[in-house]
Amino acid sequence: MQRRKFIKNSLSGIPILLTAPTLLTSACQQSDVITTDKTVIVVGAGLSGLSAAKKLHEKGFKVTVLESQDKVGGRTRTNRSLGIAFDEGASWIHGIDGNPITTLAQQAGMTAAFTDDESIKSYDIGGVLRTPNAYATAEDEFYTILNSLNKKGNATQSFESVFNNLYPTKANDRLWKFLLSAYVTFDTGDLDKLSSLLYNEGEEYSGIEKIATNGYDTIAQFLAKDLSIVFNQRVSKVDYTNKKIKITHNGTVTEADYVIVTVPLGILKANAILFIPTLPPIKQNAIQKIGMSCINKFLLTWNTAFWEDIQYITYTPEIKDKFNYFVNLKKVNPVANALMTFAYANYARQTETMTDAQVIDEIMSHLKDIYGSKIPNPTNMLRTKWQSNENAFGAYSYTAVGTEMQHFDDLAKEIDNKVFFAGEHTEIDYFSTAHGAYLSGIREADKIIELQR
Ligand SMILES: Cc1cc2nc3c(=O)[nH]c(=O)nc-3n(C[C@H](O)[C@H](O)[C@H](O)COP(=O)(O)OP(=O)(O)OC[C@H]3O[C@@H](n4cnc5c(N)ncnc54)[C@H](O)[C@@H]3O)c2cc1C
Repeated sequence: MQRRKFIKNSLSGIPILLTAPTLLTSACQQSDVITTDKTVIVVGAGLSGLSAAKKLHEKGFKVTVLESQDKVGGRTRTNRSLGIAFDEGASWIHGIDGNPITTLAQQAGMTAAFTDDESIKSYDIGGVLRTPNAYATAEDEFYTILNSLNKKGNATQSFESVFNNLYPTKANDRLWKFLLSAYVTFDTGDLDKLSSLLYNEGEEYSGIEKIATNGYDTIAQFLAKDLSIVFNQRVSKVDYTNKKIKITHNGTVTEADYVIVTVPLGILKANAILFIPTLPPIKQNAIQKIGMSCINKFLLTWNTAFWEDIQYITYTPEIKDKFNYFVNLKKVNPVANALMTFAYANYARQTETMTDAQVIDEIMSHLKDIYGSKIPNPTNMLRTKWQSNENAFGAYSYTAVGTEMQHFDDLAKEIDNKVFFAGEHTEIDYFSTAHGAYLSGIREADKIIELQR
């Protein structure tokens, strides 16, 4: 689905920010290399940590990446156990024009295919197919309302309370529940916590949407080449009391001149890393105020496809945020007899307590309602549990009630020119995205490089 389409509509006519080509990592010219004996520890091998580490490594810094998992990629994880790439985190390049992920994908060999938002069918309960016109009319009205809503809320009201108050009938309408879920909750977070003032913040790139077909982690693997990465190292303490920073991981202490902390906001919220001295109040406040969403993804495979040759099959159950659309992966990868579906917000968290059999039953009840009770059960299912994942504790950051945009910059602010912070949640323009994470790493690497001049 077109991410933040409603913002795009509201921005039409305003030039889209283009990423400067210099932001793309490429092998440094010899003359660019700095003579330095400074050491850098990067905590986390997601896109932000890897982009920072790569740039600093190419500049001549001695860089070590400490990663709690046994592989790179973080929230761009790919599971290939069923013979096709299931991206557990990021799937799409959101707007390919000027997006640094587009160039990285080309360099890394990540294949991606256009997902056509117009190739869609909308089914209601009972398998009743909506006419394209009914869907398009609701969608248009939906975007109009979204573009007007932020003038109607206040700093203490959630998106949901404002919307439900103004449009009580729509709030209970199944199609509108779907639109709110797939177009707003998916892009942001829980609507009862989402800021009614800042729900549509964030820049976006123009151009079509593309979905990775051979795995988003291809980019992380490309960035990681030649880097010194130590896996299965969980950082538990960052002591920046003295000139050299002491980083504790798995009971070992390593010293460095600089540290870049790129762990997800969920990890910072959980106080999983002890900072000594404690983080400045301004940063602690930002960690608390910015929201962390939960999205879970589910891949189901069959021996043959029983569904239509379209990109998106949508369904509008009574329960919001529940398996309400299916991405037909066969459309972008002919060998994949697979559908990918989603759960958002509280329903996503609820799925984490459900067994595989329960999840399959619920998903199948939607598909059977559309295609009839005789369709076969899937041969396999893969799933995520992002809320309870100890390497993330959630999916991505969003503007909750109480968030101010300044808070993203507060998260990005370095301490004493020694402790630096990157990650999607530190990128005021592109938070919550893969490109935001990548750009944040480059930004922090540049700060450290600048200190040597
Ligand atoms: C379900 C889902 C769908 C998404 N869809 C899209 C999409 O389609 N398009 C898009 O652009 N973006 C999407 N995103 C967002 C995108 O994946 C993230 O914004 C981006 O990957 C975050 O990168 P990061 O480097 O900031 O964090 P991460 O990738 O999370 O990297 C942080 C790293 O730190 C490690 N770590 C955590 N704790 C410790 C510790 N104590 N010590 C050492 N290491 C630690 C983690 O294991 C991880 O590897 C999606 C995310 C999710 C979860």
